[in-house]
Amino acid sequence: MQISETIYLVGSEQFALSHILDCNCYLIDYGEGLALIDTGLGLGVEDLLRNIRSHGFDPKSLTHILITHYHLGHWGGAPKLREITDAKLCVPASARYWLEHVAEDLTIQQNLQFGRWPKDLDPKSCSPDEVFNDGDRIRLGGGSVDAIVVQGHTKDSTCFLWEHNGYRAIFTGDVVFYSGMIGLINSEGSSLDDYRRDMKKLEDLEIDGLFPGHSVFVLRNGQKHINRAIRKLADFVLPEMFFETNEFMWQNDYAASLNE
Ligand SMILES: [Zn+2]
Repeated sequence: MQISETIYLVGSEQFALSHILDCNCYLIDYGEGLALIDTGLGLGVEDLLRNIRSHGFDPKSLTHILITHYHLGHWGGAPKLREITDAKLCVPASARYWLEHVAEDLTIQQNLQFGRWPKDLDPKSCSPDEVFNDGDRIRLGGGSVDAIVVQGHTKDSTCFLWEHNGYRAIFTGDVVFYSGMIGLINSEGSSLDDYRRDMKKLEDLEIDGLFPGHSVFVLRNGQKHINRAIRKLADFVLPEMFFETNEFMWQNDYAASLNE
């Protein structure tokens, strides 16, 4: 699904573009090649490839796979996609450990234990090709993507800022969603203190497109949604939490209904 001049949605559970357990996976056409932001859990890789081809692109043109954070639902498809395309797998520096030690990832255990993921899922560790830190600029041909680490959902959560022809897009992973909902969860590394401190990094960025890792994206005035989260984090009432509000989406009965 083409969503702007240079951005395509090629994987997503809500938009039924790929496997029901996939996050939103965005493709950037930077002119000289393609970059994919997040890959989904790994069960929808063939769907992603089909969607990339449906826009007239050769998956071999994929040069970068950029991962927003270490949660498996965002990078599980990366090893297979890297094998097929030879793209470089680039992850936040502090995500490296978790990609290389999936057996220690509590969130994987939680998702298996609470029946959100198939019991036979058996994720494998993998090593990234490159890591980036807060403030790093990732070159994509003549353009670039800026990495902004915003802790709160996880310690490694990174937003990617991409500007093209004056259009400013931000890919926020699970940091901030439509209407300013935040991705605070009951799991290791998630912290409201971190949110209060780091969300301000997204102030005054004059964002047009807000492209989160789940649910709807917005094409204009994305900054307004971000500003709502910043304002709520300054107040004493808890901000709305995306994963609480949308919990039904990861339940078995909802997943099963999509298969009917
Ligand atoms: Zn996450």
